[in-house]
Amino acid sequence: MDKAQQKISILGAGLVGSLLSISLAKRGYNVTIFERRPDMRKAGAIGGRSINLALSHRGLKALENVGLKDKIQESCIPMPGRMIHDVEGNLDFQPYGKEGEFINSVSRGGLNWLLMNEAEANGVQIMFEHKCIDVDFNTATSVFDNGNTAEADFLFGGDGAFSALRNAMQKTDRFNFSQEYISAGYKELTMPATANGDYAIDPSALHIWPRGEYMLIALPNLDKSFTCTLFFPFEGKTSFESIRTEADVEVFFHEKFKDAVPHLPNLKKEFLENPTSSLITVRCDPWVKGKTALIGDSAHAIVPFYGQGMNSGFEDCHVFDQLLEKHGKINDDLLKEYQALRIPDGNAIADLALYNFIEMRDKVADEKFVLQKKIEKKLNQLYPEKWIPLYSMVTFSDLRYSEAIARGNKQQAIMDDVLSRPAIEKDWKNLDFEAIIDEVHQ
Ligand code: FAD
Repeated sequence: MDKAQQKISILGAGLVGSLLSISLAKRGYNVTIFERRPDMRKAGAIGGRSINLALSHRGLKALENVGLKDKIQESCIPMPGRMIHDVEGNLDFQPYGKEGEFINSVSRGGLNWLLMNEAEANGVQIMFEHKCIDVDFNTATSVFDNGNTAEADFLFGGDGAFSALRNAMQKTDRFNFSQEYISAGYKELTMPATANGDYAIDPSALHIWPRGEYMLIALPNLDKSFTCTLFFPFEGKTSFESIRTEADVEVFFHEKFKDAVPHLPNLKKEFLENPTSSLITVRCDPWVKGKTALIGDSAHAIVPFYGQGMNSGFEDCHVFDQLLEKHGKINDDLLKEYQALRIPDGNAIADLALYNFIEMRDKVADEKFVLQKKIEKKLNQLYPEKWIPLYSMVTFSDLRYSEAIARGNKQQAIMDDVLSRPAIEKDWKNLDFEAIIDEVHQ
């Protein structure tokens, strides 16, 4: 069948569904997206304008694949490192990678808006206010809450962490599924531009206030504001549950985040009124059933601590597109390969993201962690192909996540040994770096 006659349905016009639609339309498919919500572009303002995300190499590579990298980078703010704020307000800038490597702060709404516009420019039809409530896997038919149904030759679920397609799959035999909420949730707070119209803090960093069990982070926006996110336990002695009044908020923030407080004029109101959201990891297997497949968060929702949820979803789209190039059409061989490649990688980035919460909220403030970063930087300078820090493998390369985690574990075991040597703080520059590299390749 001619691709133009092949109908593809995608559930969800979020970041991943919209990008997927572009790559499929560019290959000649007839694509329709069904989105639960109304068209955010018609409201005249970008929904959640200042809510931002970190976009990095994998996401950019997928955008480049559809010719959108440069356009999107125009509205990105580069963040070459993390700026650590200690309790006293002292600052420590830690570069993320080598000179010239950075992650990008990008507006979620702005990016989604642009991707939807591009999708339509490529002939994709987006049907808003179509909430899918059921799917027939054998006929790729979706059923909507407004009474409509849509048939297709193939259907993708790009409908996020609480996917209707995945819900339908869960009712079938031999479908493996797990979901796990972590004990922390998050709340967004705004750090507006100063009275002079400037950024309140340095915009060329992702700011972190690590405090052990919890942390505050801030990413810059183009309008000179920052979006701050407090990741904080739901319950316990110091938790969303325990901080209930304006006075509680004031005391807590002055004690723990005192250098941020002067830049958060609406702190008390925002803390008490903004929603508290939960954080979930979803894993499942298979991702394909009949004439349907999961992609993005519907297949692998992860916690946000590696900044890889969207990036990994974009990489799903890129991998799928490469498989279409290889196989020529969506067939059983392509779908088998898609799952075989992406399920282990989805699981790997889910694990990495959970681990990185501990690293961000706790370890970045630790002297041993900072020393490890210095030693790893040196190893990478001396042997750029042989020693790549885990963060760089995940963020600045497109090595498979499953391979990155395996190499990262091996490197960490070696580092644990190196860091346990006596007087390492003083003597690290005299380490036998070649011997360390030999250990990796044993
Ligand atoms: P979604 O963005 O959830 O989109 C799903 C779409 O489907 C939505 O438009 C929804 O309305 C629609 N939909 C849902 N159900 C239905 C239905 N039944 N029928 C029709 N339509 C439906 N990732 C990064 O890479 N970097 C970051 O820095 C980062 N930071 C994050 C910070 C936080 C606090 C959180 C929570 C996440 C973060 N992420 C980050 C993850 C990122 O937001 C997600 O991975 C990404 O949004 C997934 O895109 P998606 O299109 O698969 O799903």
